[in-house]
Amino acid sequence: MKISWQQAIGTDEKHLSEFSFSKGNVFLVNTGILNDLSKLLTAAKIDGVDISIISSFRSFDRQLTIWNDKWMGYRPVYSRHGRPLNLNLLSDIEKYKAIALWSALPGFSRHHWGTDLDIFSCTAIAEGHQVELTPSEFSKQGVCCDLAHWLDKNLERYGFFRPYLQYNQGVSEEPWHISHKSMSQKIYQSFPFQECYQYIAQSNIQQKDFICSQLPHYKTQYFENFIECGKQSGS
Ligand SMILES: [Zn+2]
Repeated sequence: MKISWQQAIGTDEKHLSEFSFSKGNVFLVNTGILNDLSKLLTAAKIDGVDISIISSFRSFDRQLTIWNDKWMGYRPVYSRHGRPLNLNLLSDIEKYKAIALWSALPGFSRHHWGTDLDIFSCTAIAEGHQVELTPSEFSKQGVCCDLAHWLDKNLERYGFFRPYLQYNQGVSEEPWHISHKSMSQKIYQSFPFQECYQYIAQSNIQQKDFICSQLPHYKTQYFENFIECGKQSGS
């Protein structure tokens, strides 16, 4: 199934289906990953690792709100090491880089595709842990240590990979972010950059002229800067 440019940038949702697991919440995901996602969550559950989905599809408008809220200082922006930043002290370029470390520009989020999800340990949540999605939660001392270990061993077997497992001067390390390999690759390889640029240019993104001037930089530094499946350590 080839998705349209509107679906690739999160402005149309016809590529999505509802998904729920073990009577949990309902999430929108790419119809093409339904089977593999079920298999992944079932296999983990059998191994005693209950996976909770935190976030799946996000629309362009949702991503725009997140981005603008951070730009305006309505939501906290953190350094790579989890320290809250005072955006008033930063120039536009510093602000843009600080936000892009953790949040994609609207149009460029892999969450638009429905192929990518943020996951967490169900057990940790049940025990009252407040989900933050920080690398330390997935470290050896973290509450998602067992989940991280299970993913290391099993994730690729079910057709998924972690594009942001390691930091490479672009998006921060995000060990909770998983992606369906074959479906996301198809979308990535024919990504509609021109349409995406144009859509951002007519959106109400903050400091639009500046952001538009950074789009070619964003493309190489963040969007194209991820670990392709099979290239991460331990696989
Ligand atoms: Zn994510």
